[in-house]
Amino acid sequence: MHQLLDEVDWEREGTAAVGLLRDLIRFDTTNPPGDEAACVGLLADRLRADGLEPEVLESGPGRANLVVRLRAAEPGDEGPLLLNGHVDVVAAEAGRWRHPPFAAELADGCVWGRGAVDMKHMVAMSAVVIGLLARLGRPLRRDVIFAAVADEEAGCSAGSGWLVDEHPDKVRAEFALGEVGGFTLWLGDQAVYPVQVAEKGVCWVRATATGATGHGSMPRPDTAVVRLASFLDRVGRRRLPLRKSDVATRFVTELAAAAPRPARDVLPLLLEPGWSGLVLDWLVRNPSTARQLGAVLRDTATPTVLAAGAKTNVIPGTASAELDGRIAVGSSQETFLADLGRLAGPDIELEVIRGYPPTVAPADTGLYATIAEVVAEHHPGAVAVPSITPGFTDAKMWSKLGTACYGFAPVRLEQRDGSYADLFHGDDERVPVAGFTAGLRMLADVVARWCVA
Ligand SMILES: [Zn+2]
Repeated sequence: MHQLLDEVDWEREGTAAVGLLRDLIRFDTTNPPGDEAACVGLLADRLRADGLEPEVLESGPGRANLVVRLRAAEPGDEGPLLLNGHVDVVAAEAGRWRHPPFAAELADGCVWGRGAVDMKHMVAMSAVVIGLLARLGRPLRRDVIFAAVADEEAGCSAGSGWLVDEHPDKVRAEFALGEVGGFTLWLGDQAVYPVQVAEKGVCWVRATATGATGHGSMPRPDTAVVRLASFLDRVGRRRLPLRKSDVATRFVTELAAAAPRPARDVLPLLLEPGWSGLVLDWLVRNPSTARQLGAVLRDTATPTVLAAGAKTNVIPGTASAELDGRIAVGSSQETFLADLGRLAGPDIELEVIRGYPPTVAPADTGLYATIAEVVAEHHPGAVAVPSITPGFTDAKMWSKLGTACYGFAPVRLEQRDGSYADLFHGDDERVPVAGFTAGLRMLADVVARWCVA
């Protein structure tokens, strides 16, 4: 641990962080509508109590973003570090939870509630870390910025996207730490910490089929609905081609190197076009892991919204589907659309409704090395692995300003804690208190090593 942090009362800081996390969870910031202002207001009060001067920036009625900066001793020193968390959450169906989703109850050693891991935990940790640095008062060699943002779960346009467009100077940084990564993944007895260095691109598509119309009493195969349905069937059954990239190769190779046998020998086959699908179908035993690994190595398209027809006995002339398309690192929107076009055939038109390219940060930087060092010191035997997420985070927006974004919102999990990845947007979202406070120390250590002069 950075020597500056030896003098810190971690018992006290941990208790404060848990208290803050529970307070944040009690605000229902389900997005839509988000309604983050009250939650952000509480956060601002806490930061002021540490002597900081947070700015609350409203992107719309009830929509608030917080930005606070702790300045380097000499202006123009090294590039700023941005700590980032979003305060909005996805909806929770209370009836399916063992503890109410907005009560922030403490039970079985965990804080329970929507946002416990996605991602009010990182908001609380970041606030405590920047507050701690302010109180310790040691000179910094780079600015530390903390942005708690609205609207990540609905596309970022009232949150990080808005800050990047309207207040770029407040959030421009050399590096950012946020989603997704920094939590323990157990491969047998080996602890691995995936650190997101890349995320897939987005290409949402509307597919519209046209075809013969007529009376529903006389069926025919050339209708829009039948054509669309058979296209969607092809999309659902076939994998798009493997897309190898340096970052995917490094991810799989380092994951394999950390894994016990036989996974160590099998995982590299994921990078072989002839083997990749077979490994995913037959050799990766956990279906959720297979889905994740499969998704990061190729473009994917998932049909989600369907529309056709208004009357049971009338064959409609058009039918449409929206597909959630994701672009692999090393692929592009053009490649994806060409592959999808081959499955669609001539009677289906494809139209892009939203698109972002994949985001990649270099994994050979001083900050990445610092993260890897901290992981190994705080959790002896564990290793950091540069990973790719199939999802979409605020990193998409920060990277427009040239920021290199890493997914590092650390939580130390034990083997008995179960699958952490399934808690994102899941029922019974919760974070183990011990893992969260251990994560707080890891984050503080990374920030201190990287930023304290
Ligand atoms: Zn999130």
